[in-house]
Amino acid sequence: MNGIIEEVEMDQWRRTHFSSEIRSCSENDTVIVMGWVSSIRDHGNLHFIQVKDRIGETQVVAKKGDCPDSVLEQIQSLKEHSSLAVKGRVRLQQKSPTGAEIVPVELKVFSNARNAAPFMLQGKRSSIGLDIRLDLRAVDLRRNILQSIFRIRHTLLSSIREFLAKEGFLEVNTPKMIATATEGGAALFPIFYYDREAFLAQSPQLYKEQLTMSFENVYEIGPIFRAEPSRTNRHLSEAISIDTEMAFADYSDAMQLLERLIFHVLDSIRKNNNDELNSSEIVLPNIKIPLPRYSYDQILESLMESDENVRYGDDISPQALKLIASKLNLNSFYFITDWPASIKPFYVKPNSKFEAKSESFDLMFGPLEISSGSTRINRKLELVERMRKQGLNIQKFDYHLKVFDYGIPPHAGFGVGLERFLMSITGLENIRDASLYPRDIDRLAP
Ligand code: ATP
Ligand code: MG
Repeated sequence: MNGIIEEVEMDQWRRTHFSSEIRSCSENDTVIVMGWVSSIRDHGNLHFIQVKDRIGETQVVAKKGDCPDSVLEQIQSLKEHSSLAVKGRVRLQQKSPTGAEIVPVELKVFSNARNAAPFMLQGKRSSIGLDIRLDLRAVDLRRNILQSIFRIRHTLLSSIREFLAKEGFLEVNTPKMIATATEGGAALFPIFYYDREAFLAQSPQLYKEQLTMSFENVYEIGPIFRAEPSRTNRHLSEAISIDTEMAFADYSDAMQLLERLIFHVLDSIRKNNNDELNSSEIVLPNIKIPLPRYSYDQILESLMESDENVRYGDDISPQALKLIASKLNLNSFYFITDWPASIKPFYVKPNSKFEAKSESFDLMFGPLEISSGSTRINRKLELVERMRKQGLNIQKFDYHLKVFDYGIPPHAGFGVGLERFLMSITGLENIRDASLYPRDIDRLAP
């Protein structure tokens, strides 16, 4: 028979064991596993079915004579990706990688897969184009590599929360619908807000700064929206930003906090995601604190020595960053510090001795920017002056500037792009794979 298996309800059936728990059962125990079919091997009268659940995989072995003919018949029509429950007897198997297998007694198929997925579930890289995978993202996310990536992401986020709470940071959420641009840039998404124009927030910058007045140390993990018209492997239109801001601190304190945070995250992933790291052959970077620090001037000098066409005061282009990373053998995390004030946003504090420089840093991973941070300006007049220089409409920032009349503390902070951080530690080449449902100039669905 090779038709569609009848789809049934769960009724009273409930999972008794996860796949990985089967090995601790006794021979002949009756179990119910639930999940979906990740692979089927058919040897005529012998069928091997891999059933995957959120913990792992178990093998179901159906042999003529060992299990009811009705079950064998169902299995002959079973398709990869179908969701099902298998009731069966445990057979301990030293040789099997999972230590045990299940001989099926009864099968309930909840939902048959109608189509074969256009990509393989195993294997680290898929040869199928990213767009095809993203079009069917929920299914793509069943692939082992992405399972590992998003489990590592989970640890990354929980370990950041754990670390920052210990350091005395309060978790906050700031508005995502805003009246004025944070940084005055053009990369904003306009929206309708009742009868007015508003924007999606490109960063929580000004709000988190304000909150240092009342809570001192705050952090937010939330979306940022940027209308990035270019198609690169490192930009999304909607990304998750890990933003911190702390009172009575400057950029060197912020850098120290950030490097300790990274150390803690890597340590937590090593402890909690051993299976994912091994099965997906992910090699985490080994870091030593303090991370290397290069000033902007040092980087520029090195580029000039290599005859790169750069000028003091310019931003460092992606190509130049690639050159620097390979020339100085920078293939892990490092800081570039003391950027020219002119290319940093208005709230970044210029150095009190060298006004052209700013108290700022970028955290890099090879040629990829992971985070930007700085000491912020906490004097109103200085801030207004900087805004004027950058051509911003000061009246529009009135709501922000007026809090500076009430004793805002010296403060500093940084924003880390979650997807870029995840890319760097898992070796992903395209940021889209670090996001469940990436948004870019061409993609607004799924
Ligand atoms: P880039 O120069 O790479 O476009 P940026 O300097 O404009 O980044 P910042 O405003 O400094 O970005 O934002 C802080 C961090 O947020 C960045 O270091 C990056 O990790 C992340 N980030 C910024 N824009 C994006 C984006 N469009 N997609 C994904 N992550 C982003
Ligand atoms: Mg930046």
